[in-house]
Amino acid sequence: MKYPVYLDNNATTPIDPRVLDAMLPSLKEHFGNPASSSHEYGWYAEELVQIAREQVASLLACRFQEVIFSSGATESINLALQGVIRQARESKQSSRPHIISAASENKATLDTLLYFADRKDIELSLLPLNEFGEIRLSDLSSAIKDNTVLVSLMLANNEVGTLHDIPQMTVITRPKGILFHCDATQAVAKLNVEVDFLGVDLLTLSAHKISGPKGIGALYLRDETTRGRVAPLLFGGGHEQELRSGTLAVTNIIGLGAASRIAKDEREDFSLHVSSLTQAFLNGLDQLGHPYEINGPAIGRRLPGNLNLAFHGKTASRMLSSMRGKVACSASSACSSSSGRPSHVLQALGFSNERILSSLRLGFGRANTSEDIQRALNAFEQALNHA
Ligand code: PLP
Repeated sequence: MKYPVYLDNNATTPIDPRVLDAMLPSLKEHFGNPASSSHEYGWYAEELVQIAREQVASLLACRFQEVIFSSGATESINLALQGVIRQARESKQSSRPHIISAASENKATLDTLLYFADRKDIELSLLPLNEFGEIRLSDLSSAIKDNTVLVSLMLANNEVGTLHDIPQMTVITRPKGILFHCDATQAVAKLNVEVDFLGVDLLTLSAHKISGPKGIGALYLRDETTRGRVAPLLFGGGHEQELRSGTLAVTNIIGLGAASRIAKDEREDFSLHVSSLTQAFLNGLDQLGHPYEINGPAIGRRLPGNLNLAFHGKTASRMLSSMRGKVACSASSACSSSSGRPSHVLQALGFSNERILSSLRLGFGRANTSEDIQRALNAFEQALNHA
């Protein structure tokens, strides 16, 4: 039996065999706790963590001391946002700090900010988006107030592939001393995520989106601008520079390090690979003759390997049932599809319910081949004709 073709690589990615090989010894003989400073087991574990930290730092072109390990992007985002909010309020920098973001951000960002806004702990501005999910730089400039402490915007959108011009945005915020947090979870391995190129103060990433294991991520904190401006969420042994207590998940950290090295070394080839698969899929779809529209920016202006398509007159859920066992893709992001609610991102782009309910997201990945594309097109042809 053949497995369904996996085309949901924006939800998660299969682990790269090279990453797995790097991780395995730490599940056997190299099991030490890196905080054990009195024996070889601890020292070696600490060395493995240090190698991984340097691999992540090399990907981001930052200093290794500026990388904190967390359980994933959700936690990194929460530490960045809640940490800055708490510190701003506690240090009396502002009793009600102002934060700028957008309605198309991942729920980890949006729900965190809405929680604090509902409690009136912060003032929140969500920037206007055009039909492609893009933001005008002038809208960012004019949203800034005297009490703005933080802007949080993603580099690449996980549902519709919109790219934000972070380097130009940080040109606006940096001279004003406003911190910039960028959720780069989907962009890593495909786009330049070097922190000086982006100009960001905080940056979030997650291993399972880049052929690494689940349950591990990192937060970059620029030393000069964030020192003393981020309060911890977890208290305990004071690990990770007192910002994230808890025994380090050595095996997963090694996996994140190995995945980061591959992401850096193979970025161009990987982007070309997924872009050419995306184009081959669209060419095949055009041959099928069923009308569809692309949600989000045109190919070439969006995250490589991401597609979000609205199929006229079709229901995404019916198409998914028809393709069960043949193709694995999704009706929206993994987080919202588990809630069963329509995609908040497609809503933020102003689409009708009908269009949202006829939309499917596809994410092409490292392991996909042209044979996968052909198998997927066969399944789409059946679904479009019969579902
Ligand atoms: N941010 C973006 C853009 C994502 O795509 C995701 C996962 O879907 C997250 C954050 C949350 O990542 P994690 O699963 O590592 O918590």
